[in-house]
Amino acid sequence: MYAGRSTHRSSRTTLNRKGGTEAVEAVKEVIQYWARTYGLDDSLIQDATLALQRSASAWAAVDRVSALNFAKVLDAFRAERVSESDFAGTTGYGYGDAGRERLDRIYARIFDAESALVRWQIVSGTHAISLAISALTKEGDEIVSLTGLPHDTVRTVLDGISRRGVRWRAVYVDVAGSTCLREVLTEKTKLCLIQRSAGYDSRPSMCIGDMAKLIRAVKETRPDIVCMVDNCYGELVETKEPTSVGADIAAGSLIKNLGGGLAPTGGYVVGKRDFIDEVKDRLTAPGLGGEVGPTLGMNRLLYQGLFLAPHVVGEAVKGAIFLSALFEVMGYDIRPKPESRRTDIVQAIDLGTPGNVRAFCEAVQSASPVDSYVKPEEGELPGYPDRVIMAAGTFIQGASIEFSADAPMRHPYTVYVQGGLIKEQAILAGLLAAKKIGRKS
Ligand SMILES: *Cc1c(COP(=O)(O)O)cnc(C)c1O
Repeated sequence: MYAGRSTHRSSRTTLNRKGGTEAVEAVKEVIQYWARTYGLDDSLIQDATLALQRSASAWAAVDRVSALNFAKVLDAFRAERVSESDFAGTTGYGYGDAGRERLDRIYARIFDAESALVRWQIVSGTHAISLAISALTKEGDEIVSLTGLPHDTVRTVLDGISRRGVRWRAVYVDVAGSTCLREVLTEKTKLCLIQRSAGYDSRPSMCIGDMAKLIRAVKETRPDIVCMVDNCYGELVETKEPTSVGADIAAGSLIKNLGGGLAPTGGYVVGKRDFIDEVKDRLTAPGLGGEVGPTLGMNRLLYQGLFLAPHVVGEAVKGAIFLSALFEVMGYDIRPKPESRRTDIVQAIDLGTPGNVRAFCEAVQSASPVDSYVKPEEGELPGYPDRVIMAAGTFIQGASIEFSADAPMRHPYTVYVQGGLIKEQAILAGLLAAKKIGRKS
């Protein structure tokens, strides 16, 4: 029962005299501390302080989304009556694994979807997307990507599927000009792919509002077409998900947003029940579907990661906002802007030269809790046309909800930064990078 006088300190969230929040003041202090530790000069501290002030209102908006999403996640846990026994796990076939089935239902609730499949046996986002696309298409069908060329690994998946007689092509549909959909979609079109995050593309990421319009336009033109969303990097950045606004199916990775930094591996697919049933059969075998799949000891991490995810995603977005503000103050081109509405956790910074990209990635690596002493080097990667440099010192291999950066070595030498379980890690990396690179001349 609630009793007694409120001891709530309202000053925590009110603006102080300098126009920042107490949270911003705390970060200012840690920047001063790092300035002494790393010998940062006054002009850099000034730029960082300005960047922090520019971040303040955007950070407040992030807090709002995190809080609302946390409420949604906690409600789903309570409605499904999660108990400790759900974490025990099964072995072998994994029949009757109550924790696995409950987690599927929790995901379905969070996504406003009929059904969900959440499994550590799905090894990555690409695997989840591949399962969904292959389950829902057959020879003779056509897939149209409506957001331009898909993510590199998804392109490889589509090329692989095309060897089985499913054709694909990519167009970029401007949401405002949805009329051209009549020319874009053909008799054969079975599935439209929409990628929420822009990835290495220079288009803006697609916010949920625009996605709702695009899906409505597709359904008005051809109600039978399946609208599928590659939701990687987008989960919980807004208060709605693609399946809340008409997407038939969406998929993503658990070592990105929804794993909350704790999931050691995994992927998910959510959407219409009939479609998810097909995906289950693809993952295991016809007749087995989602009835099998031992969880071993994994459930607790998937549950707890999901529980933390709204906050962790907020930290990642706040880090991205600060980097955006800092490098804008320093004169570089950045996407999105610090004050822009976001729908994913990725920040792009055009650094202009290969030397700057290397210096930035070295700073990211050196600000990491793991492998901070390692020097990242560029190299060839399968599926990528240019050499790529990556920096990540993560607890979970390749986890990009943890702070990480990557850059294809080509003009305009853009570095893509994402993740960060704790926003201060991105802030330190930004300071160290700024020290090496300096303002744009
Ligand atoms: C990361 C990502 C993928 C692929 O996910 P993996 O888990 O790396 O296989 C697909 N699409 C987008 C937009 C992504 O960001």
